[in-house]
Amino acid sequence: SRAAAASAPITPGALRDGTEIPLLVNLGNAEGAAEAVALGAEGVGLFRTEFLFLSSSQAPTVEQQRAVYEKLLAAFAGKKVVVRVLDAGADKPLPFLNDAHEENPALGLRGLRALRASEDILREQLTALAEADAATRAAGKGADLWVMAPMVATVEETEYFTKIAREYGVKTAGVMVEVPSSALLADRILAVADFASIGTNDLTQYTMAADRLLGSVATFQDPWHPAVLRLVREVGEAGRAHGKPVGICGEAAADPMLAVVLVGLGATSLSMAPTALADVRATLLQYTLGEARAIAEAALAANDAASARAAAQAAASTSS
Ligand code: PEP
Ligand code: MG
Repeated sequence: SRAAAASAPITPGALRDGTEIPLLVNLGNAEGAAEAVALGAEGVGLFRTEFLFLSSSQAPTVEQQRAVYEKLLAAFAGKKVVVRVLDAGADKPLPFLNDAHEENPALGLRGLRALRASEDILREQLTALAEADAATRAAGKGADLWVMAPMVATVEETEYFTKIAREYGVKTAGVMVEVPSSALLADRILAVADFASIGTNDLTQYTMAADRLLGSVATFQDPWHPAVLRLVREVGEAGRAHGKPVGICGEAAADPMLAVVLVGLGATSLSMAPTALADVRATLLQYTLGEARAIAEAALAANDAASARAAAQAAASTSS
């Protein structure tokens, strides 16, 4: 189906019944933007900003950041662009932000926790984003800028981030759901945030208590696990109840069958590596929303990841 997907015209992401599922891309810098647009990206679901900070012993200036954000927004003019504020710590510690001596950095002062402890860095990043947004709009090349925080674990952190983001004129402020606590409280988190984006890489790591970088526990790091799927369902149901978008930006969204399951659980957009767009687009078109929900139910009913995958496949073959 890779060949078939490649020769088909690029259409917006949708299910067979016409339900729109925007297909967005994860980008780690602004360089890949043109290629992503050419592959049919409808926007950016996750712009990781770590690269701006990783190359130096100091934080980048507002001006340096602004230049990159302007390039990104202009490349996606008229489209949605979700920028994640700095996610430092754990696998990507920064000398000016993180304590290098934590015994369990994945459970330490990372993501929004670290930014909050060095709030000037967060404020500079929000300033640069606001300036880039204003400049690209003034030039007629504005995008629909959404801003989100990584590693949010509590409702209080959600209140903190949405408040500070709005101080800088951010119109759509959201949080990543990558810690089980925030998935379990998604109904309250989405009463505050404008949207949620599920990071399935970290959500799986924290749900299964398995370091995502450790090969010896790699079998636990499987987003098909029904425990992970149940948490995704919590967020999907909260999104539906509040009428707010729930995106997926972890690697799971790039697995075509799992993408169908995630939509069945309530995801309203999917973000992935640009090279995954074609196969996910082609697979979504084979199922209605009702069928995606039935396929998700089959996966949820399984005891483990392998059985969930097999159950989804079996349910899918009877419905398409
Ligand atoms: C995730 O955790 O799924 C995610 C998208 O963020 P990152 O991979 O950058 O931690
Ligand atoms: Mg993450």
